[in-house]
Amino acid sequence: MLRIDDLCVRYGAIEALRGISLQVAAGEIVTLIGGNGAGKSTLMRAIAGLVKPASGTITFEGRTITGIRPHHCVRLGIGHSPEGRLVFGDQSVRDNLMLGAYARDDSDAIASDIDKYFAVFPRLAERQDQQAGTLSGGEQQMLAIARALMSRPKLLLLDEPSLGLAPLIVKEVFAVIRQLREEGVTILLVEQMANLALTVADRAYVIETGRITLEGTGAQLLRDERVRSAYLGA
Ligand code: ATP
Repeated sequence: MLRIDDLCVRYGAIEALRGISLQVAAGEIVTLIGGNGAGKSTLMRAIAGLVKPASGTITFEGRTITGIRPHHCVRLGIGHSPEGRLVFGDQSVRDNLMLGAYARDDSDAIASDIDKYFAVFPRLAERQDQQAGTLSGGEQQMLAIARALMSRPKLLLLDEPSLGLAPLIVKEVFAVIRQLREEGVTILLVEQMANLALTVADRAYVIETGRITLEGTGAQLLRDERVRSAYLGA
């Protein structure tokens, strides 16, 4: 479904990605793990059309999408839940969800999707008229995930979904991730909680300073000594 070949991204003099190649097959959950500043979010942003690569190619469902604009990515079926609290702060929770569905015109299905995600995240339902900027960090994180899902993506880019969430909510978010896979959504996941992320992943890549240094199934990387000492605190 997604194929990345020799992708390089620079921010001025900083080489954030130095020749990344990877693939995500339809229906898979693929996890990226790596330390701070390794380039994980940059890779997600490049796939979502938010940063322009210096070189290399991104192919989605057989079509080259390198450098296309974000709204085209959404229309093609790529949803992005960015790291941090990137919700529309002066809009209500409900309006943020509606904005996630801006490329759709099936208003009945949009309304039922909003109900569906309110059921998944009851906290959002309780606060549906509240300004998103006044939600707690964890609530904003739930909203960012639900908003990305409102575009009904074929490929969901989930950047640090557990960031700032209480342990119980993290469990719920991972249950949602598993459920999405059952529904046929393909997921590329960046996650600091490497243990959980590798457990849920079909395959995973380790990124260090803009390069892929290891890849394997989630189970293989969970057993790998280098991964265990660097990312699992073993
Ligand atoms: P973290 O786990 O800490 O979020 P990451 O793996 O997601 O890290 P990125 O956010 O992709 O890392 O950053 C990769 C490198 O690019 C870092 O050195 C970062 O400082 C740099 N970088 C990211 N965004 C910019 C920017 N807009 N301008 C300049 N440098 C940037």
